[in-house]
Amino acid sequence: MNLLPFTRPDIDEETIAAVADVLRSGWLTTGPRCRELEAALSLRAEGRPVRLASSATAALEFALRIAGIQPGDEVITTSLSWVATSNVILAVGARPVFVDVDPETRLIDLGQVDAVVSGRTRAIIPVDLAGLPVDRDRLYELARRHGLRVIEDAAQSQGARWHGRELGSFGDLVAFSFHPNKNMTTGEGGCLVMNSEQEASQFEKLRLQGVVRCADGTYDCDVLGGKANLTDIAAAIGLGQLRRLDQSNLRRRDLARLYFSSLAGLPLGLPPADFENSNWHMFQVLIPAALAGQRGELMRLLRESGIATGVHYPAIHQTSLYRKLGLLTRPLPHTESVAARILTLPLFPAMQDADVERVTQALARVLSQLGAEEGQP
Ligand SMILES: *Cc1c(COP(=O)(O)O)cnc(C)c1O
Repeated sequence: MNLLPFTRPDIDEETIAAVADVLRSGWLTTGPRCRELEAALSLRAEGRPVRLASSATAALEFALRIAGIQPGDEVITTSLSWVATSNVILAVGARPVFVDVDPETRLIDLGQVDAVVSGRTRAIIPVDLAGLPVDRDRLYELARRHGLRVIEDAAQSQGARWHGRELGSFGDLVAFSFHPNKNMTTGEGGCLVMNSEQEASQFEKLRLQGVVRCADGTYDCDVLGGKANLTDIAAAIGLGQLRRLDQSNLRRRDLARLYFSSLAGLPLGLPPADFENSNWHMFQVLIPAALAGQRGELMRLLRESGIATGVHYPAIHQTSLYRKLGLLTRPLPHTESVAARILTLPLFPAMQDADVERVTQALARVLSQLGAEEGQP
């Protein structure tokens, strides 16, 4: 039986031809295609400046530097995310302060932020896990009240909305990822939406060695930058993907609806049924608590039935590096429970309706094989 992956990028022939055009053009690195993609992304962000980088990780790190985050500062975030979210805080010498997640949404519990704000807190990084947006009204109310910068880790939420407004079109600094698993890709890549042209020129410097070109053909370097510019080859992929983003997000939403009706009888915790804001980047269930220790076995049995699944994510604070750093955190019981039980099911635009049923049947079989009781998530 052929394996159903949990995700797969979908690149059309038009995009492949556009990449070939770049390869024949004689200009491969950052150039006209990158500027075109930045303009297209900025249009979606209602005119706010957008700059590309070679990854969202780089964009997030530059965002922290643009926000002036320094060694000794504290940045509030969630531990239920890709480790990049928190690694970038360490990379600028600041200290991640983890807040527990809400067990229903699996997103940072904004109700706990007041309790961890200290005199050193400078910023907050919310994460839209699975493409479900963190409550932007409460987020920006908190940020205003405590004088915090917001760096939105919107790596998973391209095209997602908050009450009708697309993410990136409002707010402070907003980072998107174009990794192949995300809702749109450039192969690898990412971008940052900013507040001003002044922030955008800072970003341009940071992504290319800290260099500014001078009129006489020389250059100056006045800040330590990195090497994180995007190629025109990648931008050509992104332009083709952006054209189809809305259409593929709608297809994901239809598949998510099918999952809700198909999975209804199984002993699984389902995600919030948000058909207004989410871009349905992932469909994640919680397996029964009694099976948490056997998740690896469950995944192996599903794979034998032709279904690939994923774990997004192990809790960041429980990885060796973060344990070793000994960051003093409040207890994170919901984060740990969700991280132990979460399972990402296949969901991608080219998936067939019938695949949803195939996943459900395999899950039903494997869950009963492992002794899970019906109706007991
Ligand atoms: C993918 C992802 C990132 C990092 O994106 P890259 O483009 O791979 O650097 C950061 N945060 C979250 C939540 C992600 O899912």
